[in-house]
Amino acid sequence: MTHPSPRTDTTAVPRTAVVIVGAGPAGLTLGNILRAASVDCVVLEAESREFIERRPRAGVLEEWAVRGLQRRGLAENLLARAEVHTECEFRFEGRRHRLPYAELTGQHHYVYPQPLLVTDLVREYADVHGGDIRFGVRDVRLHGLDTEHPSVSYDCPQTGQRRLVRCDFVAGCDGARGVTRAALPAERVRVARHDYGIGWLALLAQAPPSSDCVVFGIHPRGFAGHMARSPEVTRYYLQCPPGDDPGNWSDERVWAELRERLGAADAPPLTEGPLIEKRVLDMHNYVVEPQTAGPLFLAGDAAHLTAPIAAKGMNLALHDAFLLGDALVARLGKGDTSGLGEYAARSLRRVWDYQEFSQWLSEIYHGTASGDPYRAGTTLARLRRLFTSPTAATAFAEQYLGTDGTS
Ligand SMILES: Cc1cc2nc3c(=O)[nH]c(=O)nc-3n(C[C@H](O)[C@H](O)[C@H](O)COP(=O)(O)OP(=O)(O)OC[C@H]3O[C@@H](n4cnc5c(N)ncnc54)[C@H](O)[C@@H]3O)c2cc1C
Repeated sequence: MTHPSPRTDTTAVPRTAVVIVGAGPAGLTLGNILRAASVDCVVLEAESREFIERRPRAGVLEEWAVRGLQRRGLAENLLARAEVHTECEFRFEGRRHRLPYAELTGQHHYVYPQPLLVTDLVREYADVHGGDIRFGVRDVRLHGLDTEHPSVSYDCPQTGQRRLVRCDFVAGCDGARGVTRAALPAERVRVARHDYGIGWLALLAQAPPSSDCVVFGIHPRGFAGHMARSPEVTRYYLQCPPGDDPGNWSDERVWAELRERLGAADAPPLTEGPLIEKRVLDMHNYVVEPQTAGPLFLAGDAAHLTAPIAAKGMNLALHDAFLLGDALVARLGKGDTSGLGEYAARSLRRVWDYQEFSQWLSEIYHGTASGDPYRAGTTLARLRRLFTSPTAATAFAEQYLGTDGTS
């Protein structure tokens, strides 16, 4: 929903080129690209700096995304500290099967926790380049998107007063629960949704990883996943009913279920530890088309959500930020509008490719536990094909790494 422009003497209102709503990976990467090109911008973030620098979420970055950050001078810490992963492991029918995706594609994953990336990006934007970022803002509203004078207003946490910023463009980078998506005109927007009808219990264990790679446990009791985050912290997932209460999952029950679902001949025992996060995620996806309206451009989870099934969301957020950042710099620097014109189509090409992969992978993860013997049979056939057909393995690896040239 777009709000009427506030009655104010606009000559006295501060002005910037781009207001970025949201300081997640998309908003902060965009802010850094604009600052590096000396484009004025303001980032508005609802939470505190401490909160966003600690919020645990993603950890798996595709190589093309890291190279994109590196080209923009944003990957120094990441390259020094991230682990490189070259294989993943599927466990099914009591056996372990390794898939060497780096050998098949020439590219690898970097494992770098999202809070560390966010911390690096805030430091670079605010502390190194003196970028304007306002934390703890409330009630962000967009105004005048159908006029030549868009603006954004918010409640200032320090004074409690309403503040207004005039701008040329608004970047909606405020994630799945943000407000900017609602400003797209309802009659022109199509929201495609998919609900998997499945829940995942997302867990963080204060314990070293139990394997040197990502492990997918495909089990009749439900999916289980193991993903390293750091030498001290490991993410695990357990399939559960959607809307399940994390209170139903004692630490003992979690570890017993993980041992069962990730169990396989010769598998080393899980390294257990206290569980420092337990949340139930209802697995669903959406894609908003088009993700732009006049001076408003959505990026990242604000525009499209992929459940963490294929570890794609943060990668897509970075992809959008690269495209939108370069396009805004070209428009504001040289008057070149081509990048902004192509932004939605170029973003959506990778988004839909990843949505399709997510869908495909979901069937592999969840088919054997569906209670439907037909789905269980076809799931196992798909899995076996990955380890008997080099062509099938390479196709999987390309999609897992996002290396098929989609951009
Ligand atoms: C458990 C879990 C595991 C995941 N694992 C992976 C993974 O391994 N790999 C991967 O690629 N992705 C993963 N993801 C997805 C990834 O975390 C998201 O896709 C990514 O955070 C999207 O970045 P973003 O910048 O678009 O949005 P966000 O990170 O959500 O950032 C949006 C920002 O906007 C702020 N905001 C919201 N509303 C407002 C408002 N009204 N005003 C001002 N600010 C506002 C929020 O506080 C937030 O800081 C995972 C997600 C979860 C939940």
